[in-house]
Amino acid sequence: MAASHAHPQPLPQAGGEKREVVTRFAPSPNGPLHLGHAYSAVFAHDLARACGGRFLLRIEDIDGPRSRPELAEAFRADLAWLGLVWDEVPPQSARLASYAAAAERLRAMGLLYPCTCTRAEVTAAATAVGPEGPVYPGTCRARAANPAGAAWRLDVAKALALTGPLTWTDELAGVQRACPELAGDPVLVRKDAPASYHLAATLDDAADGVTLVTRGSDLFAATHVHRLLQALLDLPLPRWHHHALLVEAAKNGTGGRKLAKRRGSPGLDERRQAGEDGRALAKDLRAHRFPAGISLGRA
Ligand SMILES: [Zn+2]
Repeated sequence: MAASHAHPQPLPQAGGEKREVVTRFAPSPNGPLHLGHAYSAVFAHDLARACGGRFLLRIEDIDGPRSRPELAEAFRADLAWLGLVWDEVPPQSARLASYAAAAERLRAMGLLYPCTCTRAEVTAAATAVGPEGPVYPGTCRARAANPAGAAWRLDVAKALALTGPLTWTDELAGVQRACPELAGDPVLVRKDAPASYHLAATLDDAADGVTLVTRGSDLFAATHVHRLLQALLDLPLPRWHHHALLVEAAKNGTGGRKLAKRRGSPGLDERRQAGEDGRALAKDLRAHRFPAGISLGRA
């Protein structure tokens, strides 16, 4: 352990406030975990343990038929195999009432509107590309869309007018001005699920007492929306640590692609069942020793 300084320590709390550090790993059981997940889980685990804090496991299982309970069981076996110790908090499927209540509160504030656009319609109507793809141009904002079967979007301009300017702190990137408007009005209630990732993860982190949200840098832009939701719903303010992602080495030197199971990196379950030493793997990840062809991208 002491040999590796690859993982940074949490920064001291502002104002000398001593707050227990609580981190979490929150996988969705719609595909096996791979090396990138292992890196993320070890990262969150170590940041909490380094200061005697707590590391939580939360199963994000509201993806309808894509969520497979047997995968959640495999996740627990994978984490134990890596030598991690965690407290498990309720899965998202047990928290639907809290999502509905938050959506109702935002609706009552006049901040949500129904949207019936399909993904293809959003792409066709978009006039800008934001950090998460085509920016929804607000097609349904001024339209009396039929709420039946609609998704519900947050009117970001209206919400920001209520909250005023917001900031949030990433332990690597420093203080950020929240710019949720860059990605357009986000969906908070999906057509096919009681909450989007943005709403569910923000509410869950607050309910679970997470003080340090660690996750891959691909979710950096999502934090602008989460910060806005925290302000609107009077939720406690955590800190964030967006870490670099494991990437597959590029063949032409133009930069790697995010690691994904479907591109041939063996799942943790396969490694575990093949008799590989999970604790040794975790040790390698801590020291940034990765298998051939895999490296750490930019944060
Ligand atoms: Zn729409």
